[in-house]
Amino acid sequence: MHFADLHLHSSFSDGTYTPVELARRSHELELHTIALTDHDTMEGCKPTAEACAELGMDFIPGVELTAEFKNYEVHLLGYLMKIEDTPLASEIVQFQRARQERIREMVRRLNHLGISLDAETVFEIANCRCPGRPHVARALVKKGLCSSVDEAFSRFLRRRCPAWAPKFRISAHRSIELIKQAGGVVVLAHPGLSRAAHLIPELINAGIDGLECFHSKHSTTETEHYVNTAKQHELIITGGSDCHGTSKGKPLIGSIKLPSSYVHKLRAKAAQFHPDTPPIPAMNLPN
Ligand code: AMP
Ligand code: FE
Ligand code: FE
Ligand code: ZN
Repeated sequence: MHFADLHLHSSFSDGTYTPVELARRSHELELHTIALTDHDTMEGCKPTAEACAELGMDFIPGVELTAEFKNYEVHLLGYLMKIEDTPLASEIVQFQRARQERIREMVRRLNHLGISLDAETVFEIANCRCPGRPHVARALVKKGLCSSVDEAFSRFLRRRCPAWAPKFRISAHRSIELIKQAGGVVVLAHPGLSRAAHLIPELINAGIDGLECFHSKHSTTETEHYVNTAKQHELIITGGSDCHGTSKGKPLIGSIKLPSSYVHKLRAKAAQFHPDTPPIPAMNLPN
């Protein structure tokens, strides 16, 4: 039996592991398939695919977009889309710019509170095009202005805290359209953590293909509930740890081991959009 983790973040967004480290750790944990789902970037997909290939592992390109649906925040996962030369790839650049501007805004707010931090320090720590609050938190810790990332979040960065600034959210309709145009499959991330879970039927009408039923922060009851919901609506089922490396304490990688049958269904779904692509690449035939 092969296992998968279909929700991982790398150092190309707010995870701490590089693609090579992610692949190596996944291999140690006996994961056969991993998907990289960085926030607002697909840059890490090529190096992760290469690292996986070297270890004889299967790789699924992905992305996690922060979207808005009826005034609620929803996280949408895109899987198996074309990485380059798509409207998704070009629009993503705008999300990255918005993220950089948001960092400047949060730093301005910190400066107004008398905290001396500059945006360049945050960008240096982030060392990626998709800086976020965890990078501001790490900068505050590095500068000795907070004792931990958690403290930085609870004093300054949590929603509605003094240095918090709203994040740009693309509409869910547009994200679904962009992922599908690129040949990808759209999955609602961690519905158990979303306030919009009651809108699943409407999200299905908007075009989502699946639910992330297995997630490190879902309780057993939540997992069962979303598995039933997915079956009822004939949605595909995915799962992943949502590991961000060591940025939130113990790394979550390995906490979800999704059986490979779900990976086959995900690939089969993508193949429906690309009838000329075989559902499972020959070199990754499951046992
Ligand atoms: P952003 O995309 O900039 O709004 O930042 C969101 C990221 O911050 C997500 O990956 C969250 O999981 C992470 N985050 C939220 N609260 C905390 C916390 N207390 N400690 C570390 N990371 C957190
Ligand atoms: Fe994150
Ligand atoms: Fe998320
Ligand atoms: Zn995530």
